[in-house]
Amino acid sequence: MARYLVTGGAGFIGSHLASLLHRHGDDVVVIDNLSLGHRAALPPSVKLVVADLADRTAVNAAFASPRFDAVFHLASLSAVGDSMRDPLRYCRENLVCAMNVAEAAVAQGCLRFVVSSTASLFNPPTDGKPVDADARPDPQNAYGESKLMIERALAWAEQAHGLRYAALRFFNAAGCDPEGRLGEDHAPETHLIPLAIDATLDRRPPLSVFGTDYATRDGTAIRDYIHVSDIASAHLAVLERLERGSCRFNLGTGQGTTVLEILQSIRRVSGRDVPALMAPRRAGDPAVLVASSERFIAETGWQPRWRRLDDLIQTAWSWRLAHPGGYGG
Ligand code: UDP
Repeated sequence: MARYLVTGGAGFIGSHLASLLHRHGDDVVVIDNLSLGHRAALPPSVKLVVADLADRTAVNAAFASPRFDAVFHLASLSAVGDSMRDPLRYCRENLVCAMNVAEAAVAQGCLRFVVSSTASLFNPPTDGKPVDADARPDPQNAYGESKLMIERALAWAEQAHGLRYAALRFFNAAGCDPEGRLGEDHAPETHLIPLAIDATLDRRPPLSVFGTDYATRDGTAIRDYIHVSDIASAHLAVLERLERGSCRFNLGTGQGTTVLEILQSIRRVSGRDVPALMAPRRAGDPAVLVASSERFIAETGWQPRWRRLDDLIQTAWSWRLAHPGGYGG
């Protein structure tokens, strides 16, 4: 039985990962300040340390023996729009928290470190081609900048301390646990799919479509929506790859979907209209962000299970329908 630490393990992606590790029979410790995460998202036998990663004493205490076999660092501020309004907070919090966790891992002798990174690292090509793992990082928003700083700092820790790190640059995590236990519940919610589903259910105002004048097939921005369960399984796949050294991978489906195509998919799955209003572009949003996972697949053998957009949307729709108040009720 392996022993893992998952930071942000009560959050959207973190809870799917913690639950997968737990199902594998591993010993999982989650550290989460519950500012965005939910205790109810964790199996009762997973140990939850409620603490802020900015608090070094608390982080060091979570690393008390026995040693972890690996750390999955997922906790992060991650809203692009907020990062453009408050760039200094984004850079400070994301960097300081990641460095506190990495320092504690090194001090404990846990030298396998998987960090969530992001598509926002890149200034994507305007031709819409998938961004591959060798693309040069060039963040267009402060959130992406904060993740780039973390990746670069870890590379120095590799040189100095032999820390092996894997940076997984997710594109748009979406969907929910197909068994319906885990879902997407952010407060405030800023993500397209849960907002659009709630608008469809009359639980929120009509969705604002941010930007209808992009040079894309229908004028709205294109993203690569990857199922959160596939992201969780990618974390397991990368552990073995870490034995051969540090690595950085993009994780997406290679398929771009416009905002309007997401709304159409929700319409097909729900059989209902999706109330929407056209709105100006959101600061920091590129027109197209699509990832190539080819290198990741070639080097780890990982295979995404969720390939059809409507299947992905169905999981998100079912969870919101069954959990009108999210985890709260
Ligand atoms: N989006 C939108 N209306 C919203 C929220 C998002 O049109 O209320 C768009 C956003 O501009 C982007 C896409 O949906 O093009 C995905 O945004 P999200 O915030 O879900 O993820 P991000 O791409 O920022 O990580």
